[in-house]
Amino acid sequence: MSYRRRLSAERRLLRSPPAKPLIVLSSNHKTGTSINLPVINCKPTRRCAAACYACVGPISWGNSIRKALAVDAVLRSGELEGLIWECRRLRDVRLNGSGDMTLEHVPALLELAQECPGTVLWGFTRRRQVAEAVNGKRRNLSLIVSFDTTSPAGELDGYDGPLAFGPRRPRDRVPDDRRIVTVFPEHRIGHTMRGVPFHPKDCPATRGAQRLMACARCRRCWRPFLAMGHKL
Ligand code: SF4
Repeated sequence: MSYRRRLSAERRLLRSPPAKPLIVLSSNHKTGTSINLPVINCKPTRRCAAACYACVGPISWGNSIRKALAVDAVLRSGELEGLIWECRRLRDVRLNGSGDMTLEHVPALLELAQECPGTVLWGFTRRRQVAEAVNGKRRNLSLIVSFDTTSPAGELDGYDGPLAFGPRRPRDRVPDDRRIVTVFPEHRIGHTMRGVPFHPKDCPATRGAQRLMACARCRRCWRPFLAMGHKL
């Protein structure tokens, strides 16, 4: 499925009333559990849209898209009881397992982190403003800003938070930037695209068999400010 087709499917489904998901979290081979959102919230670069992981496999099937739209409605409405109950039982939850958040999701994120003090909420966003709105507000909540070689020049000027570089293709050079905590070679089902050179900050979950539950072993993105040398 292309990014454009996924976007059209979400827009079509949005015309019917949102379902109420019985279970809000989704399972994920790499991260354990995640909050999966629709791509209607995304602000993708050319590289990101071309590699979109939400357009491949079970996460792109109709039921997953319906669930992502329903979870999005839950966060926007602020009716978080079910989500809080699920998250409290877990050590960590990945945000934006698919899709992205906007500034409208920030109040729900802050409340979720406050109500689940024993759970680390972590993830990635393409929206610098969302990361700046949540980072430093709760001890157990952080977002890393993703960018790639097709991101607009100057987009990250003055931003002093953690970064993820990718999806990376064979000719993409990783900038020498202390803010980068992880690099994502473009990958499919945990296998790196042929020809992408190794980088010392590569995410271990992109290297074949190492991907299963890789985040629980690595945890670099759980405390990204520590990973880039800050103390929060
Ligand atoms: S760098 Fe580590 S914590 Fe971050 S996504 Fe990859 S495996 Fe998970």
